[in-house]
Amino acid sequence: MSHIQETITRLHNELSPEGVELVAVSKFHPAAAIMEAYEAGQRIFGESRVQELAEKIPALPQDIRWHFIGHLQTNKVRPLIGKVAMIESVDSERLLAKIDAESRAAGVTTRVLMQVHVAQEETKFGFTPEELLSYFSERKFESLTNTHLCGVMGMASNTCDRGRVAADFAAIAAVHRNILAAAPDLRNFDVLSMGMSDDYRLAIEAGSNLVRIGTDIFGGRQ
Ligand SMILES: *Cc1c(COP(=O)(O)O)cnc(C)c1O
Repeated sequence: MSHIQETITRLHNELSPEGVELVAVSKFHPAAAIMEAYEAGQRIFGESRVQELAEKIPALPQDIRWHFIGHLQTNKVRPLIGKVAMIESVDSERLLAKIDAESRAAGVTTRVLMQVHVAQEETKFGFTPEELLSYFSERKFESLTNTHLCGVMGMASNTCDRGRVAADFAAIAAVHRNILAAAPDLRNFDVLSMGMSDDYRLAIEAGSNLVRIGTDIFGGRQ
C-alpha cells in the first residue's frame, strides 16, 4: 500500500466509529494521487479553485463527491452548479443569492455550508458570528428556493497555541448551536465542518463531524 492509501485507511478506521466524515483535500495534487485515495475507498474530495476542479471532474470517477472549500467569486459560481456535492465556503449573502439563482436556472438544489470567521487572521473569509446569527434570526434563509443550508464551516487561527485553536473551534461550534436555537425549525442543518491535518483531533473534541485533511494524506503542496 502507498502512503496515500495507508493514510486513508488509517483515517477511515479512526473517524468512522466517531461518526466523522473525511474530505480528502486534493487541491494542487494530480488526478493520479486522487485515484490512489479513491482506490482505498475515499469518495469525498475537496478543492479550492474552480478552474482546477473543472479540469479534474471529467478526468476522475463520476461517483466522487466534490466539496468546494475555497473562496468563491460570484462570477465563478456557474461552473460548479450541478457538479459539486457541496459548497462549504459560502462567505457572503451576495454569494449565497448567486448560488441560489444559478441553481434555480439549472433546475438543481445546491448543498452549502455557511463559513464563519473566528480566527485572528484578517485574511480569512467568512461571516462573523454576529452576522451569521442575524441572518438566521431574521429568517433571511426563507427566500432561498434552490439552496439547502446544511451547516457551518470554520477554521481555527493559524497558530501552534493549542488553547487558542481549541477556543476557536469551541466558538465555531457555539455559532452552529446558536443558529439551531434561533431557528429550531431548520431541517438537516447538522454539518459542522472543522479540522485540518494539524488540528482535526481538537476539532472533533469540539464537535466537528466533517474534517478536511490534505497534507496528512497527499503530502505538501507546491
Ligand atoms: C487546504 C485546506 C485544507 C487542508 O489543509 P491541510 O493542512 O493540508 O490538511 C482544509 N480546509 C481548507 C478550507 C483548505 O483550504
